[in-house]
Amino acid sequence: MNERITHIAADVLYDRLIDRTQIDYLFSLNGDFVWDILYWANKIRKNFFGEEIKVCSIIPARLGGCSQDCKFCAQSGRYDTSFKDIKTLSDQQIIDAAKTAKQAGIRHFGIVYSGKTISENELARLEKLIPKIKNEIGIDICGGFGIIDYSQAVRLKKAGLARYNHNLETSRNHFKDIVTTHNYDSRLETVKAASQAGLGICAGGIFGIGETDADRIDMALELRGLGADMIPMNFLHPIAGTPMGDMPAMKPLEILRLIALYRFILPKAGIKVAGGRVLNLRDMQSWIFYAGATAILSGNYLTTAGRAVEDDVRMIKDFGLEADLI
Ligand code: SF4
Repeated sequence: MNERITHIAADVLYDRLIDRTQIDYLFSLNGDFVWDILYWANKIRKNFFGEEIKVCSIIPARLGGCSQDCKFCAQSGRYDTSFKDIKTLSDQQIIDAAKTAKQAGIRHFGIVYSGKTISENELARLEKLIPKIKNEIGIDICGGFGIIDYSQAVRLKKAGLARYNHNLETSRNHFKDIVTTHNYDSRLETVKAASQAGLGICAGGIFGIGETDADRIDMALELRGLGADMIPMNFLHPIAGTPMGDMPAMKPLEILRLIALYRFILPKAGIKVAGGRVLNLRDMQSWIFYAGATAILSGNYLTTAGRAVEDDVRMIKDFGLEADLI
C-alpha cells in the first residue's frame, strides 16, 4: 500500500479537504496504485455515506432541437442526429412517467428540458406541474431547465422543486473548445442562483471529451467551491452526427480511477454515475461503488438506452449495499 495515498486518505477521513498538491499527486499515479486509490475511496464512501446508494431517474420533458452547440450532445439542433427536432412531452406523459418511477421504488425523479433556457410559459407550466406531481404521486422532483436566474430559481423552489441540475460539463479552460454559444460563467451563475434560492445542487460534468487531468481537477475544485451536493459524472457515449461521434470510448479502469479521485476531492458530495455507464463500463459497472459512487441514474438516459431499475437495484444489493428506495 502506497503510504502517501494512505496519509492523504487519512486527511479526508479526518474531515480535512485535500489541497491541489495532494490532488496533483493522486492524479499522477497509475498502474497498481490505482487499486490503492480505489481501496481508500471505498473507505471514504463508507465513512461519509454508509451503505446507501441513491437511485434516480429522469424524463426529458423537452428533447432535442437545442439551439446550442455543445459538441458532445446529440440534442443540439445543429448536428445531424435523430434528436435534431424538438419533441415535447405532455403533462400527462410526464405524470405517467413519474408514476412508473414511483412504482419502481424511485424517490428522486428528474424533469429535464433541452435548450439554453426556459420561457415564461414553460416556467408557468412547471409551477403548476411540479406541485401536482408531488402531491398526487409523492415523489421528490429535481429539474434541469438550462440557464436560469435567481428569480426563476425562487419560483421553482416555491413550486416545490427539491434540486436543480445544471452541469458545468468541464473546466473553464476546456469549455470554450466544447461550447461556443454560451459561456462558462452563465453556468456558474445558474448554479449559484439555484443555491441562493435554497435548491439542492446537482452539478457535474462529462468526461472523455478531450479534457486533460488538469481540466478534471479544475472542475472538481470548482464544484467543491460551489457546494454542489450531488455530482453527476457522465462519460461520453459518442453519437454519430455530433462532432464527437468518432471519439474513442473511455476505458473502464480510467473511469473508476476518476470516480475515486473525485471521491477524495469531494468527500461529502454524492457522486452519481450517469450517462455512458452501460457503454463504457460494461461488466465493471458494480465497481463504481467501490470507487466511491453513492448514486446512479437508472432507466434510460436522455438520448441513449440505460438499464431497467430492477437490474440496477439487484446490482446494488449484489454488491452488499442498500438501494435508497421508497
Ligand atoms: S448540453 Fe444542453 S445546452 Fe448543450 S446542446 Fe445539449 S441540450 Fe443544448
